[in-house]
Amino acid sequence: MRTKIIAGNWKMNKTLEEAKELATEVKNHVTKEVTGNVKIVLCVPFPFLLVTKDHVLQTSISIGAQNCSEHDSGAYTGEVSAAMLASMTIPYVILGHSERRQYFGEGGKLLAKKVDKALAHSLIPIFCCGEPLEIREKGTHEALVRAQVEESLFHLSEEAVKKVVVAYEPVWAIGTGKTATSQQAQDMHAVIRKQLSAKYGEAIAQAIPILYGGSVKPDNAKEIFSCPDVDGGLVGGASLKARDFVDIIKGA
Ligand code: PEP
Repeated sequence: MRTKIIAGNWKMNKTLEEAKELATEVKNHVTKEVTGNVKIVLCVPFPFLLVTKDHVLQTSISIGAQNCSEHDSGAYTGEVSAAMLASMTIPYVILGHSERRQYFGEGGKLLAKKVDKALAHSLIPIFCCGEPLEIREKGTHEALVRAQVEESLFHLSEEAVKKVVVAYEPVWAIGTGKTATSQQAQDMHAVIRKQLSAKYGEAIAQAIPILYGGSVKPDNAKEIFSCPDVDGGLVGGASLKARDFVDIIKGA
């Protein structure tokens, strides 16, 4: 049995005070209401990493970043390295979110380097993949997602790939209110797991968590998370409201 993971992606939202308030509210609800074995991660903007971490100390909630550099250090103004995140004991980092791919031109080869940097500093990459609408409509979504996984993860050793979390996020479902059906999610998760199994063997494929992301809400979370190959979710919009986020966690 894989432990379920629910990760909230706050994106570029909240001020410092609002971030503290949201982290506190999530913590209070989680402490009172969430039982059972679920890992909770809040992926917050860089400036709020330490303060949110302080607000969830001694709970089951971990903190993650939303990106890191492919470089170790140096003259890269505005960038944040994996070493910096590790030095703040931040355990998770989202890599390859579709917004990074779309607005910042991040492609598979670059993401492979970022995955390497994250792992080299013992961060857990939450590696995102997923197809845009036109690819889904053409029916080539499986091939595209398989290519994304292969390009950014398949250079990893068995030891390394075991530390990765994959998030399947169909781009047409992100922030649109249009969720994949549980069957669509399960089908794609099974495709990814089969691909991981063909490359790394069944035991490793079975151990790698594959999260679903794309308009997960309290009313659809339970059905999606009950699919056999869906190991939790990456949640954007609904993670900005403590009540909704915690109800989603309870769906796991
Ligand atoms: C996301 O940003 O990863 C995401 C899934 O967003 P939303 O839940 O808002 O669709």
